[in-house]
Amino acid sequence: MSENRTGFYGEFGGRYVPDNLNKILDEVKKEFYKCKDDPEFIEQLNYYYKNFIGRPSPLYFAEKLTQKLSGAKIYLKREDLNHTGAHKINNTMGQVLLAKRLDKKRIIAETGAGQHGVATATVCSLFDMECIIYMGEEDTRRQALNVFRMELLGAKVVPVKHGMKTLKEAVDEALKDLMENYEHTYYMLGSAVGPDPYPAMVNYFQSIIGTEAKEQVLEAEGILPDYLVAAVGGGSNSIGLFAPFYDNEEVKFIGVEPAGKGIETGMHAATLSLGKPGILHGFKSYVLQDKKGEPLPVYSISAGLDYPGVGPEHSFYKDTKRAKYVSITDEEALIAFEELSRTEGIIPALESSHAVAYATKLAKQCSKDEIIIVNLSGRGDKDVNQVFEILKSK
Ligand SMILES: *Cc1c(COP(=O)(O)O)cnc(C)c1O
Repeated sequence: MSENRTGFYGEFGGRYVPDNLNKILDEVKKEFYKCKDDPEFIEQLNYYYKNFIGRPSPLYFAEKLTQKLSGAKIYLKREDLNHTGAHKINNTMGQVLLAKRLDKKRIIAETGAGQHGVATATVCSLFDMECIIYMGEEDTRRQALNVFRMELLGAKVVPVKHGMKTLKEAVDEALKDLMENYEHTYYMLGSAVGPDPYPAMVNYFQSIIGTEAKEQVLEAEGILPDYLVAAVGGGSNSIGLFAPFYDNEEVKFIGVEPAGKGIETGMHAATLSLGKPGILHGFKSYVLQDKKGEPLPVYSISAGLDYPGVGPEHSFYKDTKRAKYVSITDEEALIAFEELSRTEGIIPALESSHAVAYATKLAKQCSKDEIIIVNLSGRGDKDVNQVFEILKSK
């Protein structure tokens, strides 16, 4: 979507938070829109995108996979080649520069699988910021190596010990900290979710993905692609790829959600496919919820995709039919994980494997002059241990 300062995407988005949090978010919002129009801020951001993250990331023609499927041409947007191995750092880099502008010295963040925590700890190390990461105790155990990475980078990881001891409680704890310490603290949110202005901010910092991809595909092919395919957890890598193509109506958007063990089993995180509009963590969007409106437990083979909500802009894209949302099971993602490794010499993150799996199906139904861009949101090094264990037990 083109710039929208209201914080609403149709009926979705907004800000459903207590009064004192409202004031804090107003301050962040004001500074964000100032920065966006400030050439000095943009120059600084571009400097770190290029020299620290390694942007632009290549748009790679997956020639062998294309030949094998003998359908549409498949291009991979290589976010896996970024420093720290995924797209998340595009956002944390933007937000840390914003926090500096606000003169905040202390950064807090929530993390589930630990990937956003690592991307946050990385930029805090770079800019000498105090860094506190809230993480469900259950997740600190499952993701012990990421806890070590964050600590190595100088962050303090605080295990959250109440409730289900996972991401939801970590978010609650981070918000509580923010309200108590807002004068010198900045809350760095990890996906295109949360109350206004976070979805707009994350869209902006991740849109570098689609902006580059557009230029790169025009250079390689002379035309725009037919399809953009990306995995959807909270929705940041997908919105980053999609948004710069919003007005190019001939380019179709496909968001791929985790169907886990199968939609019919209840063990999945297919929020847009099966959720209903509701309010979670201060914003309105599709939510996987029970009859009382309580968020349902979610599951996916890939820890980065299991969140019961989704960014509000995606809910709007769904209802206005600008994008289509599909789902891919654990099993299908695992097959794509192996197939891309073997065919192209690229081990994708399990999250990204969902997008690859759907693109593989789609390509076969397309003609050879059609073009698909798949967002390779991250690299699979973090997942090889888990996949090893799964394949061993089969
Ligand atoms: C976190 C993560 C995702 C899912 O988050 P989005 O906000 O939906 O992008 C996807 N891929 C990778 C590699 C991730 O780390």
